[in-house]
Amino acid sequence: MTREERIIHGVVASVGTAVGKAVRTFDPLFVSFNFKLRPDQVRKEVERFRSSVEKSRVQLKRMQVELKRKSGPESSFLIDAHLLVLQDRLFVDRIIEKIEGEYINSEWAIQQVSDDLFQAYDRLSDEYLRERRGDLDDIVRRLLHNLQSKPLPSFKKLPYDAILVGKSVPPSTLFELRSQRIVGLATETGSPLSHTAIMARSLEIPAIVGAPELADVASGDLLIVDGERGVVIVSPSDETLATYKGRDREGKKLKAKSATASTPAVTEDGTRISLGANINFSEEVRSAIAHGCESIGLYRTEFDFFREGKQPDEESLVADYSLVLKTAKGAPVTFRTIDVGIDQKSWDGVNMNLGVRGLRFCLENQDVFKKQLRSLYRASAHGTARILLPFVSSVDDLDAAHDIIEEVRRELTAKRQPYDPNVPIGVMIETPAAAQTCDLMASRVDFFCLGTNDLIQYYLVVDRSDQSVVHLYNPFHPAILRCLQQVYTLLKPTGKPITVCGEMAADPPSAAVLLGLGFTSLSVSLGAYSRIKRMIRSVSSAHLKSMATQILKMQKPKEVEEKVRATVYRT
Ligand code: PEP
Ligand code: MG
Repeated sequence: MTREERIIHGVVASVGTAVGKAVRTFDPLFVSFNFKLRPDQVRKEVERFRSSVEKSRVQLKRMQVELKRKSGPESSFLIDAHLLVLQDRLFVDRIIEKIEGEYINSEWAIQQVSDDLFQAYDRLSDEYLRERRGDLDDIVRRLLHNLQSKPLPSFKKLPYDAILVGKSVPPSTLFELRSQRIVGLATETGSPLSHTAIMARSLEIPAIVGAPELADVASGDLLIVDGERGVVIVSPSDETLATYKGRDREGKKLKAKSATASTPAVTEDGTRISLGANINFSEEVRSAIAHGCESIGLYRTEFDFFREGKQPDEESLVADYSLVLKTAKGAPVTFRTIDVGIDQKSWDGVNMNLGVRGLRFCLENQDVFKKQLRSLYRASAHGTARILLPFVSSVDDLDAAHDIIEEVRRELTAKRQPYDPNVPIGVMIETPAAAQTCDLMASRVDFFCLGTNDLIQYYLVVDRSDQSVVHLYNPFHPAILRCLQQVYTLLKPTGKPITVCGEMAADPPSAAVLLGLGFTSLSVSLGAYSRIKRMIRSVSSAHLKSMATQILKMQKPKEVEEKVRATVYRT
């Protein structure tokens, strides 16, 4: 039976794409029995437990050495965390006390002690610390495994293109199973902060986590794990498969140029490109900083704002935004005020893309706008915040927004609330009107962000969320090239910085066009970060400039695209 192509959304844990066959993993629950020991059996039972601890320690040490050799210190610290649990008196000694004091078997004692600790983890409010529950879970499994002296599962039965799919996969299992056969990972639970995610990144296995709909995927299903878009495609069509396979070949050509977190984004001929990260959820900040991202170029705040299904109160917004800024450790964070309306069509068929969205919504719902602005200003003391206004189409909109911002500041001053009065205010250029008049807006703002996702849809009259016109959505269209060149030319004399944060910056060929046109600041999703850094490091800015001169004279998107691909991939 052939199945229909289906897209499952999740969260990117490790970038890259993988095509392969699903292999479901089942994390066996150890059935432990509660045995009552005779007093003369206690000493032997404690020895049994200690030897399981020792066996686990030896396994982990071995794993740590290998991991350090393979991928440096980032992931070997994961094993430190496991080793520390094994030395933790609260853990090991309490288990021994239970065996000795209550005459119970090791499995039962481990379960009781770990249950208490799991509950303590669950009560923690810090998500990062809560995620560390996984370390304990992993070590408990290892101890139970070693108590039963079962051999580790073998990867030899896996197909050569296995994508592990499961509710969760413990990080050490992922490491122990590592082999050329495992090309991807997709789990129903988990977050990019989990150690499984960190392990997947270290092993360079594309991974998507937090995708509950994976529960329906069966072993043997053909899958694409797209660690750029954060989706798993189940039973992809031939066309989809061909697209991904093509990308894979191109990606390999760029791979030769290494781009680690610490390597700078500099072209071959020395042009420094500022490369920031786009995030949709606050939890992504930590990962962005770990990737070496120098800024959060775009934080789409609407996803967190409406995450609970209702509007958050001001105090929790202040706490969330403060945490984001602290986690960014001084790196600038561009908070885009809520852009609602996107991808939503109302019941009467009105296209929200052409209606009340972004700043228009905020101007009509000033209580919501003011609450968000107050929260942003109140959090601003904790780091380097920037405020970005979306979907602006006129200088009037911008003036109205400024009046409200001013009012919020006055209110905070009157209440003696501390805030940074110099938070830069920026505007998204994502409507044709903003592209045509950005120079008129320049004196009113501190910076610009170029949103090519919307700009292209409005310029080419192609609804970005409508599958039936997706083939017409083309960043290489001469109209787009001319528009971008015009924006660059209008803004250059103003000296106002401009960052391109649409998806055009996230695909190497179209990003190369941006560099060729003169843009030197890009912001991309984490999934695309290292790919774009690699592209930057493998091109010459002078070559791209001369390529830009040539493509600006071309008439058809296809010609443009061919020329760009040939330049970037040097074919
Ligand atoms: C854009 O329009 O290019 C952009 C970055 O914003 P969003 O994708 O959130 O509309
Ligand atoms: Mg937009």
